[in-house]
Amino acid sequence: MTDRPTSTVITSIGSLVTNDPSLISADNPLGLIPDAAVVIDGDRVAWTGPSSKAPPTDNRLDAAGRALLPGFVDSHAHLVFAGDRTAEFAARMSGRPYTAGGIRTTVAATRAASDAELAGNVARLLAEALRQGTTTVETKSGYGLTVHDEARALRIAAEHTSEVTYLGAHVVPPEYADDPAGYVDLVTGGMLDACAPHARWIDVFCERGAFDGDQARAVLEAGVARGLTPRVHANQLTHGPGVLLAVELGAASADHCTHLTDADVDALAGGDTVATLLPGVEFSTRSPYPDARRLLAAGVTVVLATDCNPGTCYSSSMPLMIALAVREMGMTPDEALWAATAGAAKALRRTDIGVIRPGARADLTVLAAPSHRHLAYRPGVPIARALEC
Ligand SMILES: [Zn+2]
Repeated sequence: MTDRPTSTVITSIGSLVTNDPSLISADNPLGLIPDAAVVIDGDRVAWTGPSSKAPPTDNRLDAAGRALLPGFVDSHAHLVFAGDRTAEFAARMSGRPYTAGGIRTTVAATRAASDAELAGNVARLLAEALRQGTTTVETKSGYGLTVHDEARALRIAAEHTSEVTYLGAHVVPPEYADDPAGYVDLVTGGMLDACAPHARWIDVFCERGAFDGDQARAVLEAGVARGLTPRVHANQLTHGPGVLLAVELGAASADHCTHLTDADVDALAGGDTVATLLPGVEFSTRSPYPDARRLLAAGVTVVLATDCNPGTCYSSSMPLMIALAVREMGMTPDEALWAATAGAAKALRRTDIGVIRPGARADLTVLAAPSHRHLAYRPGVPIARALEC
């Protein structure tokens, strides 16, 4: 016996989406290979090509004409929480508008929950995502809003994913309602000290009812000084300074981007910050969708994620986001699939996921369908699942 990892070939893949830059062209924007095979060695992709040329391996699987894709990358989720907000959802569907204040309901439930309850919720939601083809999930804190509760949320998140984001600046908690500046001092001081060791990213909800541009800048700059990379909840409910701040500070992503000025679009097109659209939020809050075509026309990198959270989008389904992007935001099926895989990898500044090429992680999703176009063509049908080799 040796320690060499087992190799497996998957043959007769009806349509393989590689997102491999060496295969992408104007005519083939996803680097598709028809009638393809993939060789997996351990946890890595070792080879891709025509099924007829597949090399010998230890094991052999037959995809029987089904499509194979890079696992979906969900670059924006809030999974560490307790309770739900069914009553708020029902009220909103009866005509009440959404404001940022509902977050405080979840904060109270999360503070009251045990570690085991929070960890169980994260595990349940990650398993749910995996069953729908998502193999990487970013998750944030932001429902603790005390030094203890934020640090514990990040510690729990880090046990389940390497993409962990400190979001102490989600909203000002009730005990600081009369002293928001004091809360920003905490977020950039003692809370940051406790949280930075568990996180890769720092985020802020830059929005009316949450944090203004000056407060958001203070939060992000403090995080950068501690080695965290920014990402920003920007321009969700109103025009605001979030997008310009994100680009100026070199954030990996500006998330939401629902209300943009021409200056915002120009900044995104010229910077290193991708635009992550979260159409499940507009769907769940019955709000106008972001203008994906405007961003794409300007050359902005557009990404799709779920924003899975108990208030404004309680869905972990990347296939649903793809279907919404295609049917409600005018993205093509190819653009939406790329945005949910390779694009989303850019939002996490990763090159080992969102792509199927030699050396990439063997994070693969199989469809009970011959083409990725069925993700939008058959909305709500559970055709995607992560492949466990
Ligand atoms: Zn969010």
